[in-house]
Amino acid sequence: MNGKSDVNTPKKLHLLTESEMNEIMFHVQGSSDEPYEVVFRRQPVGFTASCTCVAGANGQSCKHRINLILGVTTDVVSGNISAIPLIQSWVSGSAYETAAAQLFQAEQEFEQVKKRVAQSRKLVGLALRSGDIT
Ligand SMILES: [Zn+2]
Repeated sequence: MNGKSDVNTPKKLHLLTESEMNEIMFHVQGSSDEPYEVVFRRQPVGFTASCTCVAGANGQSCKHRINLILGVTTDVVSGNISAIPLIQSWVSGSAYETAAAQLFQAEQEFEQVKKRVAQSRKLVGLALRSGDIT
């Protein structure tokens, strides 16, 4: 402290510009040394999101973007997690919402099928051991 008080100095307000509100970048620490750059861009309908990780660069889905949408902030190192509710507000009615719902349903069906496979495997073991499955 230098003894000067800044109590009476008005803080500079940073008003968001139109493009800043429609384009938000996060830095996410992944497996590489440098954090990945994840950029969400609002579109006339919905949004797009890019990520500099290998999967993102190859046009595939990655957890860096999905986690941000889900509000998982553990690996965010850019200090702007307060912007997450804004990008989450872009999800409703987007192509992502439809595709993610389809994925969620497929994952649930997959879990059920895995259970059926495990139960069936037990029955096969029982049949081979005792000749009976009742
Ligand atoms: Zn990524």
